[in-house]
Amino acid sequence: MIILALDALDFNMVGKYKCQNLMQTECGQTNLSEFELERTVVLWASFLTGKNMESRIPIKTQWEFKLKPDETFFTYFRTYQAIDVPAFSLKEGNHAEERRLLKSYFDENATVEEYDAVIWRNHEENKKDFFASLGCFDIVMGYFDLADAIGHLSFGIPEKIEKVYTELERIAYEVRSSTEDFILIISDHGMKPVGKYGDHSRNGFYSANRELRLNIPSITDFYEILRGVAKNESS
Ligand SMILES: [Zn+2]
Repeated sequence: MIILALDALDFNMVGKYKCQNLMQTECGQTNLSEFELERTVVLWASFLTGKNMESRIPIKTQWEFKLKPDETFFTYFRTYQAIDVPAFSLKEGNHAEERRLLKSYFDENATVEEYDAVIWRNHEENKKDFFASLGCFDIVMGYFDLADAIGHLSFGIPEKIEKVYTELERIAYEVRSSTEDFILIISDHGMKPVGKYGDHSRNGFYSANRELRLNIPSITDFYEILRGVAKNESS
């Protein structure tokens, strides 16, 4: 089982750039209407636990929030690898640096180029970890924040966003070419333009390389699907 967790991958943008490998066999929008805000940590924690975690995660300390393995669907798999997953195995140093540079940009102490360079560097690191893990665990979940992190400062700049979607489409192509395993691609929320910047939107996305016959599922619905996959694999 492979989960490609793509932060802020937007349902409309995947269609706009015709990313066939991201779309896979079945794709659609997720339903986030039960959430008051589209918060990254809350949405990934809710995906991992199958429960709406909004009230349990304070805004102020959200990046420190961490689930135990037995609170997540990972507990159903014999072996798992979770690369940089928010609320679980986040690479705290990398994300702290990204947030520091974002703040510095608005304080006029860092340029967007300096910020982007760190985002792309961290992205390459996760890509290396992710592809090295494929085939070595019953479930691998690889998290990539590229669309979110670049999007926040540049969602209104089409050539930069096209580069991001081209890169994520290439990752999906590489994963799909390398395995017959069940592949779920999922985002926490979408993105909308605010001038040249971007902000979270409700256009969350999911896709699978097999028919699940879902109809605008909630992000919490995948927990049971993954539990079923684990059960099938162990029997
Ligand atoms: Zn996010």
